[in-house]
Order: sequence, then C-alpha cells, then structure tokens
Amino acid sequence: MIHRLPALLLLSISSHFALAQDYRWQQRVEYAMDVRLDVTSHHIAGTQKLVYYNNSPDTLTKVYYHLYFNAFQPGSMMDVRSRTISDPDRRVTDRISKLKEDEIGYQHILTLKQDGKDVVYTVDHTILEVILAKPILPKTKTVIDLKFEAQVPLQIRRSGRDNREGIAYSDFQGWHADQYVAREFHGVWGDVDVKITIDSKFVIGGTGKLQNPEQIGHGYEKAGTTVKQSNGEQQWHFIAKDVIDFAWAADQDYAHDRVQVPNGPELHFFYQKNERTSDNWTKLQEAAVKTFQFLNERFGRYPYDTYSIIQGGDGGMEYPMCTFILGEGQYRGLVGLMAHEVTHSWYQMALASNESLYPWMDEGFADFASSEAQACLSELFWSGHQRSAGARQSTLGPL
Ligand SMILES: [Zn+2]
Repeated sequence: MIHRLPALLLLSISSHFALAQDYRWQQRVEYAMDVRLDVTSHHIAGTQKLVYYNNSPDTLTKVYYHLYFNAFQPGSMMDVRSRTISDPDRRVTDRISKLKEDEIGYQHILTLKQDGKDVVYTVDHTILEVILAKPILPKTKTVIDLKFEAQVPLQIRRSGRDNREGIAYSDFQGWHADQYVAREFHGVWGDVDVKITIDSKFVIGGTGKLQNPEQIGHGYEKAGTTVKQSNGEQQWHFIAKDVIDFAWAADQDYAHDRVQVPNGPELHFFYQKNERTSDNWTKLQEAAVKTFQFLNERFGRYPYDTYSIIQGGDGGMEYPMCTFILGEGQYRGLVGLMAHEVTHSWYQMALASNESLYPWMDEGFADFASSEAQACLSELFWSGHQRSAGARQSTLGPL
C-alpha cells in the first residue's frame, strides 16, 4: 500500500489547486495622478485616471475611494472615536476637535466620470461611494476620471503637515471600503504613475522610482553630476509597479542619502538635516543595508529595486517601497523601528495580506523576523547599548 501513497497525495493536492483557481482572484488597478501642492495654502489640486480591472466573477455596480483627509475634521468618526473610547491614542485624543478651518483636512470631489460620463456619488466621511453609470462586468475594465481639491491637515496621526519633528508633508492614498479611524489600511494591487508639482525647494521621498532624476536633482541625480535647482516649481514623476498603496513625504530640510544593498534594492534615506548633529542616521544606513541582506537571504529577495526610509516624524508606518519613521531619539529606538517597518515589506507589501482583517499575520511576522534580524546583527543594532526587552520599547509604538 505504501507505494501508492505519493500518487494519492498528488491527486489530493491537484484537486485542491483546481478548486482554488475557481474562487480566488485579485482585482487590479492602474492609477495615473497629476497633483500640485501649494506650499503656502497647503492646498492640493489634482486629477486621477483610474483603470479598474474586475477580475472577479461578480458584476460591480459600485466602487469606493478613500478620502483620508476628511478624518481630520471636528466631528469625524476618528475625532469622536478618539474622544470617547477608554484607551485613546494619546497622539490624537481631542486634537482633531480643536482644528481650525485652515488646519482641517478635506478632499472635495470636483468631477467624477466613468468612461467619459458623469456618475452619481455620495461622500460619507472618509469614504466616497460611486454608483457606476455602467456596471463593470466580470473580466472587463472601466476608466474613472476624478478631479479633486484638498487641504492637507495639520499633522495629527500618520498624515498631515508640520508635525513635531518638522516634516512638512506626509501623505498616502489607497483602497478598501473601511472608514479611516486611524487604524491599518489595505489596497488593491496596481501600477501607480504620479506627477507631483511642488516648490523646487522641497525634497520628496516616497513609494516608487523617480523617472526624472536628472531634472530633479535633490540627491536623485547620478553621482558626480550637478543639477541646477531652478526657482519656482518642479514636477516630480514617480512610477511604482505592483503596489497596494502610494505614500510620499515632502520637506525643505530633508538630507537625502543613497546606499546600494548588495544584490538588493537601492536604499534612500530622507531625514532632517539637523539630525546630522548626531551620527544616528549614518549608523542607521549600515544597519538597514545589513537588515535587507539578512531578510533577502532568510525570506527571499526583496522584489522591488528601490526602498526609502523616511523621517516621517510620527511613529512608524509601513508602505510599499518605503516607510515613515520617527527620526529623533535614541539610536536603539530608531534602528529597532527601522527593522520592524522594513520587515513588513516581506509580508504585507509583497503578499498583501489585508492587515485591517488579519493584523496578527503581518505584525506577527514583522515582529518575529525583525527580532531574528536584530539578534543576528546584534553588534550593529545595539552597538554598545545594553539590549532591553524589545526593540520597540523605546519608540512610540510602530504599527
Ligand atoms: Zn508593524
């Protein structure tokens, strides 16, 4: 009987595989965005062309967008939640309720068209619900054009302007239909092509690969070349392929360093120039390279060719091809935070598990694998400091 076992197993596996193919699918999106950020009024004017591919067996009559900035208004669900729950995030508490008109965030829809025709939509706090003029049949696509204006809120949590570490702008956008109340987020796989026009004094770091480095300069240009910075505005062009979100930060005071990971991505570091008074951000670069090498070897090569570690100035948050982390404080906290957020790239950002539904999978892996990295690279990580109960202890708690 024993010799028949492998054949039976094979049959069993292949029948499961066939079944799985019938009910599993992934939607797909392609975004092309063109935005202009006015650094005086903190207003954004933008257009977005979305090609949405319905790979599901269902006909879709509605689609949803996130309007995350709407969370930063007095009376928003995020505001009410953080003022009424028993254990509010101490970084939020009642701060939203005190925002003035020119400090709140908003995203206003100016026009919305599906395949060139106006569509009906409603805005419910941070969710824009679009009733499609023409349902999207299975295995077909549609094009949705959106024109919008927005105000970047004073930074409360994750997104916003002028936070306490002095980062002017940090921003992100993505897709799923849950209200934003300052928790995790999730999006659909897609390609993102973004053009950002901003005052030429500002340096941008974020998801994707810059397409016009020789025009932009700011540390993106080829080593040894000089780019003459013009007055006025610059248009940055980023492309990211196969990502579930797009995040970016902009500041006038960013230092920008680049380091190549052997057999890995090119790492970009963006941090406040005044951080150069300590060598934390220099030591961090070596630790980051080693972390990538370790994770590449242990868990598979990182599939994108650039990654940015950005002083976002507010906790730590993982995004595709970049992370925003706190930049001040002790080296030990900084390096632990970097390792944790970077490690998310191997699970959430490569496999795209929905962290808003299954946080244990992604956070569990990130905690486990970053602890492994820190244990194996302990010299680099702790460099003379006594190791304490956890890398995250001295930070404000990455998510
Ligand atoms: Zn995490």
